[in-house]
Amino acid sequence: MRKHIVAGNWKMNNDLAATAGLITDLKRKVNNGDAEVIIAPTYINLHSAFESLSDSNITVAAQNMHQAKSGAYTGEISAAMLKSVGVNTVILGHSERRAYFNEGDELLTEKVNAALENEMRVIFCFGEELEDRKAGNQEEVVESQLKNALFHLDASAWSSIVLAYEPVWAIGTGETASPEQAQDMHAFIRKTVAETYNEEVAENVTILYGGSVKPGNAKEIFGKPDVDGGLIGGASLKADDFFEIVNAFA
Ligand code: 13P
Repeated sequence: MRKHIVAGNWKMNNDLAATAGLITDLKRKVNNGDAEVIIAPTYINLHSAFESLSDSNITVAAQNMHQAKSGAYTGEISAAMLKSVGVNTVILGHSERRAYFNEGDELLTEKVNAALENEMRVIFCFGEELEDRKAGNQEEVVESQLKNALFHLDASAWSSIVLAYEPVWAIGTGETASPEQAQDMHAFIRKTVAETYNEEVAENVTILYGGSVKPGNAKEIFGKPDVDGGLIGGASLKADDFFEIVNAFA
């Protein structure tokens, strides 16, 4: 049985005090479901978040990392640095990284490889833009994003991969994919993984949906058979909303 996950991508929100405050609120909440709960604060608050959550079962993830081991890369953070502050999970390929920081398939392949070499778990984000969806090309786009950044991996590496389908047109727009649209794409993704690897890899990989998930729509989206959880942006910044989403699995 594959794992359910609800992850909060805080993006560039919450300073040190706000991070501590939100974590205090999150720790008061009860997870009635079976989903693993992950939060991804900004780099500089990862260490404090990890320490504050050491007595809880909420996992801390990074939003990005650099592909090199170390060296002259001003402003960057390596996998080993993340691990040294207790972070073993990293989000890679988010559409905002792709759009604003020019991250493409080739760079993402290097980042995925670096994370796996450091025994980290990768939450790999991908998804089509509105024009792809309007043209009916969403499956081709998604397949090529997966193929170019992940399908070089051995089947055994897939136990460290979580997929996060985030249609760009649904991120921060208030417009969600319908539960049927999410299910159709997730089933397509699972079929593509099965054809590339085998049924076992496809059945075991957790596929998250991201894009305007809210307390009001989480249950319906998560109720679909190939949707194994969510990657939550805006609604992860309020403990009540986030845990209502987490408990959509209850
Ligand atoms: P929103 O939930 O704010 O649409 O963001 C989704 C997202 O980008 C999560 O990574």
